[in-house]
Parts: sequence; structure tokens; C-alpha cells
Amino acid sequence: MYIPFRHVGKTPQPFELAREDITLKGTLAHKEGALFQMKALLEGRLSVACDICAEQFDIMLDDKIDLLLFDGIYSGSDNGLDIVEMDDKIDMDELLHSEIELIKSDYHRCEQCRENNL
Ligand SMILES: [Zn+2]
Repeated sequence: MYIPFRHVGKTPQPFELAREDITLKGTLAHKEGALFQMKALLEGRLSVACDICAEQFDIMLDDKIDLLLFDGIYSGSDNGLDIVEMDDKIDMDELLHSEIELIKSDYHRCEQCRENNL
């Protein structure tokens, strides 16, 4: 799903997309200049690998996402803000994919390993 930046106005615009067992639901709004804001909730079930025994297990997602999107190449000062550059349109699938990859790359321990470590 692509959303052209020029279709996003000052009034927060709702969106929702789903991939397998995961949904990303929230709003997009024009902030200022080429900056846009996404506020969303990432919910669902994700299969991750345990960092200790490599066993796959499911975790439940319930994550708030607050992202700034920039139409073009961002050259402003970096105030520690998380800014995602996009060209002309917002690639929602790519955003969802990168959020999922970010969560997958976190440290995960399955129930078994958590118990063994106590
Ligand atoms: Zn484990």
C-alpha cells in the first residue's frame, strides 16, 4: 500500500494494514514542510527465534509507534529524532516490514529458557 505525501493533510488521516497475524493501525498527518507524522499501534502475533536455544516461539505485539516521515532526503539537524525518508509516497508495507524486523532483532528468550535462567 502506497500513500502519496500530497494526499496527507493537517487533519490526521486514519489507515490500517495487515500482514499475516499483524495489524498496523493509526493515523498520518502533515506536520510542517516535508515532515509528516505517523502515530500507530502495532498489534498481533509474531514468531521470533529464542536468542539462547534458537527455538521459534510466538510473542504478542502491542507496540505504540510514533514516527516522523520525510518527503525526500532529510538534511536538517538530527535532534535524536527517528526520521524515515521516503520518496514522494509512503510505502506502508515497507514501514510495517521494518518495524517487524526491528522487533525480531530484539533480544528474545522463550519461556523454557526464561525458566532455566531463574
Ligand atoms: Zn529458548
